[in-house]
Amino acid sequence: MTTQDATDATIDLLKELVQRPSVTPEDSGCQDLLAERLEGVGFSIEHMPCGEVKNLWARYGSEAPLVVLAGHTDVVPTGDESDWKVNPFSAEIIDNKMYGRGTSDMKGGVAAMVTAAERLLSNHTNIKGSIAFLITSDEEGPAIDGTRHVVETLRSRGEKIDQCIVGEPSSSEQLGDVIRHGRRGSLGCRLVVRGIQGHVAYPHLARNPVHEAAPFLTELVSIVWDEGNDYFPPTTLQISNIHGGTGATNVVPGTLTIDFNLRYCPDTTPDHIRSTIEQLAHSHELEADFTWVDSANPFITKPGPLTAAVERAVTQVTGVTAKLNTAGGTSDGRFIATLAEEVIEFGTTNATIHQVNECVDLDELTTASIIYERVLTDLLT
Ligand SMILES: [Zn+2]
Repeated sequence: MTTQDATDATIDLLKELVQRPSVTPEDSGCQDLLAERLEGVGFSIEHMPCGEVKNLWARYGSEAPLVVLAGHTDVVPTGDESDWKVNPFSAEIIDNKMYGRGTSDMKGGVAAMVTAAERLLSNHTNIKGSIAFLITSDEEGPAIDGTRHVVETLRSRGEKIDQCIVGEPSSSEQLGDVIRHGRRGSLGCRLVVRGIQGHVAYPHLARNPVHEAAPFLTELVSIVWDEGNDYFPPTTLQISNIHGGTGATNVVPGTLTIDFNLRYCPDTTPDHIRSTIEQLAHSHELEADFTWVDSANPFITKPGPLTAAVERAVTQVTGVTAKLNTAGGTSDGRFIATLAEEVIEFGTTNATIHQVNECVDLDELTTASIIYERVLTDLLT
């Protein structure tokens, strides 16, 4: 099979996926299309819907090791379509870039992985192990009925995953520069500080929660949680929303509401974060209610066979030396990591994801597909 075949097949498949307007949690027929393609090269297909979410588990072979390619067919909303230079579901190609919602996050990755598997299986009849696709339509939404559900189903059947590549757009400046081998944890909190509402002219009859919280907040944002480690950057805290006041200029507010989120390195535990912040509030004598949301556990795949295989393929195909990192938001890799020996995320550049005029460079797309094929060849033949 020639590079031209790889190019045409991947671009055609991506176009068909982008033209299905699968705004989360919709799948809009994307998984049926993928199932048909994979069935055509010998995969057995299992649809694993959960609630309104569609999930696909497709497996080729029954032997170990099992290498999983994972991704999602849902996309984030387009925003105001008139801000786009093309219709966001038209998959138009301009200057060697395909434009459309999901082109880089992550229908491009899905298309590139599927055509990689198709080429591998048409070139090799002796696969040593199995390949599976884990595709969900609930990655951009609550992420409860998607990958998590499939992983729990597999766990209940006693299935194990040896290695998993999530085809999320991990690259930063150029294709292949970043392989994500873990993610930080995410811990959020809504804090309500209570005071006593009153007239600004009679402060002795009121208690102002804004004034009481101010020195606490100064200390909160200056806490150094850890130094990070070889695999993770230091833990960070950001205040995202703060609200107090009735809108009137002559009323001392009765409450102040503050939202903050920590992206944490595993050197710091969620329990330690919670108790440190609650003690700090206590030491400032705040009347405070905390509502914590532990939204993602951290995970790490230490450098090993999978990271080495991807690094090698990247260098062979592009000449780029990939860096391993754990930055970025959370992803479905966190669920797969509970069942898999090794999980990494690798895909095209992410400069336009979730933006107006999201696009993917067609050379990058095809090259990514060749890298996926080479990794599979390395691991399974
Ligand atoms: Zn994504």
